[in-house]
Amino acid sequence: MQYITLNTGAEMPILGFGVYQIPNDQTQPAVEAALEVGYRSIDTAAVYRNEVGVGRAIASSGISRDELFITTKLWRQARGEDNTLRACEASLDRLGLEYVDLYLIHQPFGDVYAQWRAMERLYREGRVRAIGVSNFHSDRLVDLILNNEVVPAVNQIELNPFHQQVAASDLMRSEGVQVESWGPFAEGRNDLFNNPLLAAIGRTHGKSIAQVVLRWLIQRDVVAIPKSVTPARIAENFEVFDFELSPEELAQISSLDQGVTQFFDHRDPKVVRRISAIRSE
Ligand code: NAP
Repeated sequence: MQYITLNTGAEMPILGFGVYQIPNDQTQPAVEAALEVGYRSIDTAAVYRNEVGVGRAIASSGISRDELFITTKLWRQARGEDNTLRACEASLDRLGLEYVDLYLIHQPFGDVYAQWRAMERLYREGRVRAIGVSNFHSDRLVDLILNNEVVPAVNQIELNPFHQQVAASDLMRSEGVQVESWGPFAEGRNDLFNNPLLAAIGRTHGKSIAQVVLRWLIQRDVVAIPKSVTPARIAENFEVFDFELSPEELAQISSLDQGVTQFFDHRDPKVVRRISAIRSE
């Protein structure tokens, strides 16, 4: 495994396992399969409603806590400082953990500044080892940094071959914020798993399209957290440390960038309303 160093000094695996859209009862076997293969970083969220399944898999694995890197996320309904502290305790309870390694504000909506002050407190008190954000566009990220004390350790954003986020990533690096990709495969949108260029590069290395995409992210120093409920794919997605893409191949993949989201734009008022209506409990 390769690690990146966060601005807290903590080491984070560059490859983790995401559990979005995995029902709670299927989460335990999926995470157990991932831990068995060697993943040590798991990405969940209160709103995924599967923290219990993640916690059970961690408990049954017998892996020592300090070998794991667990991320969960605060859902936006937890407005204000007190609600944020309560939401964190509820997540820790569901996970059965004393602390998480990374706690993220899931969406750039609601009373973000009150949430962040509470996150800073949780960080100082050691309930969470690092704090960060998700889905923050560059302007929101810089404003958060300018008006608070703790710089986010991570910004988890949509980042895949069709939405490469080059300018946003450069900005994050200049601010000391680690770039983390969600949806590394764009959930298969735009026919990613049949893309001819990615397939051709894969053939050169005897690797699948999924492996090429993950390798591309790793070589860009982007943390990736692919999701799968399929044991063979969970294993396949972990086998990305035994080959290297050439500068020419990286340049070819750059040409796939469409510069637009494959999902939704967090600056679209309709999206703000839709996401804000979702409840985590
Ligand atoms: P993703 O990882 O881009 O794609 C997952 C899809 O790809 C699933 O349908 C999976 O199928 C399939 N797949 C996985 N490996 C494959 C392989 N080797 N070959 C073929 N198909 C494969 O999508 P995602 O789940 O949206 O993103 C990953 C993680 O990012 C999430 O689980 C979550 O932790 C995080 N995330 C965060 C946010 C946020 O707002 N912060 C948003 C979305 C996601 P099967 O499962 O059927 O195998």
